[in-house]
Amino acid sequence: MNITIPAVPLDAALAYAALGIKVFRVRRNKAPYANCPRCDMKSSLYIRHRPEACQCGVATCHGFWAATTNPDLIRKWWSEEPDANVGAPCALNGWAVLDIDPRHGGHLSLAVLEQRIGCMPGTVMQLTGGGGLHMLYRTPSVPLPGTLGPGLDVKHNGYILLAPSVHSSGRKYQWSGHGQFLQPTIIWPAALTPMARAAA
Ligand SMILES: [Zn+2]
Ligand SMILES: [Zn+2]
Repeated sequence: MNITIPAVPLDAALAYAALGIKVFRVRRNKAPYANCPRCDMKSSLYIRHRPEACQCGVATCHGFWAATTNPDLIRKWWSEEPDANVGAPCALNGWAVLDIDPRHGGHLSLAVLEQRIGCMPGTVMQLTGGGGLHMLYRTPSVPLPGTLGPGLDVKHNGYILLAPSVHSSGRKYQWSGHGQFLQPTIIWPAALTPMARAAA
């Protein structure tokens, strides 16, 4: 189902969450929110643990691991900071994202890649405010490389910003196709999974 993403960050975050997408807030300058002392590796009170196993109960610890679909928490976050950008962890949401940044030659790297494996399958795309492009796929649920060449990154363990977030250039992220969002259904190309390359 296509949905039109609202222009107000809070409403957009709620719309994503209603689709089952875990979101978290990201400051415009990307400065992270503080972990609590038990989760802060620099604190003497730090208790060693994996972010995904955190039980401290503080809703902002460990960056994108705090991402949620809880509308009450989302309302609290964006009422505190109405302009915060909307971030979404990739693998946690079932996504593997190809991030093409022409400012670093990503379009050239993509051309080289497509000569080798053929065209990337058509899928849901987002225009980043910086002139780049996100191509969203379903994750193959195996570890993926972080990059496929200069300006051509794979966002899998990390996160992406979602429309209507504001890029550092001042322009907004936007879904291609009239700003409508659709959950990706196309799986990450097998030719780009490490196992496929090892077998080839
Ligand atoms: Zn904590
Ligand atoms: Zn923790």
